[in-house]
Amino acid sequence: MPNNRSGKLLDKLDQSNLDGFLVSSPHNRKYFSGFSGSSGLLLISRQALILSTDFRYWEQAQNEAPGYTLYRASKGLKEWFAEFIGQANVARLGFESTDITVECLNTMRKSLKKAGVATRLVSTRNLCDKLRMAKDETEIAMIKKAASISDLAAEHARSIVRAGMSEIELAWEVEKIMRQNGSEPVGFSVICASGPNSALPHAKPTQRLINSGEPIVLDFGACSGGYTSDLTRTICCGEPDSQFKKLYNIVLSAQQAAIEGIYTGIKASAADKLARQVIEDAGYGDYFGHSLGHGIGLEVHEAPFLGPTSDDKLEEGMVFTIEPGIYLPGWGGIRIEDDALLQNNKVTLLSMATK
Ligand code: ZN
Ligand code: ZN
Repeated sequence: MPNNRSGKLLDKLDQSNLDGFLVSSPHNRKYFSGFSGSSGLLLISRQALILSTDFRYWEQAQNEAPGYTLYRASKGLKEWFAEFIGQANVARLGFESTDITVECLNTMRKSLKKAGVATRLVSTRNLCDKLRMAKDETEIAMIKKAASISDLAAEHARSIVRAGMSEIELAWEVEKIMRQNGSEPVGFSVICASGPNSALPHAKPTQRLINSGEPIVLDFGACSGGYTSDLTRTICCGEPDSQFKKLYNIVLSAQQAAIEGIYTGIKASAADKLARQVIEDAGYGDYFGHSLGHGIGLEVHEAPFLGPTSDDKLEEGMVFTIEPGIYLPGWGGIRIEDDALLQNNKVTLLSMATK
């Protein structure tokens, strides 16, 4: 029997004139089946829920995906793919165009042809990703847990930062505290950028030594049950300069405008504008070059996307970041990022570290 998640996928398939779906990306595989191994394919149809994987993951698959019939994959994909698909009697099978390589698609087609299986492989885009946008209670609890761990790391960084410490040293302190407090391996490398380096939104930590008074952008996330948080704090050791104070207040007001103004059903582009308007009005519109935020969940960047050109709408249960910033080349940058849950027509922050 399909569970709630695959049930929703099956409804989508009806609308797309498909009678089965092949899930290949690791995040979607975990989302639908619970299986977190790094190799396997799901076949989802009204008649069957089948997971193919090889002997390395057999026991893990039995434990993690009890709702699925297991299919033992051995040798190359070409040898077993047709038999695997043949079990479901599917006429039009959707696959994830953003995940399957051309090489893999050719192999699958050859396998079906050779075995005389009439299933047609149909390319689809972001079908599963849209289903993952609204989170259920279990998912929200995981993200909350991850957010509470990244909060701890932010407070830790604030308490230990000293002039003369390198960016790499501070980044490692942040990562270490997250792991010590129960985070699974973090989903993305800790960003720690000081002084002029902080004008680069995605700077890599360097050996540069931190000076007092300058901005230090720290951007990182913890991971719990496969779900990630994503937090940015811009901190300073010693007394911040006047530029820091001025820009920090503008970015904070921009973030607050979005937190207060977002409601259920708002266009993601309109949500972006709430914050962007504040930065534009302060005269720094040209220095906020990225989008306001993005969904978080099994991936650190997933739908919905909150940006000027987004077609997404923000709905109940969605969890996304709100992260305005201002970046001045040569001086540095300020970014403040929090994780937000849209519920009961308003935003509640899941991250609570000092701002
Ligand atoms: Zn981030
Ligand atoms: Zn982010």
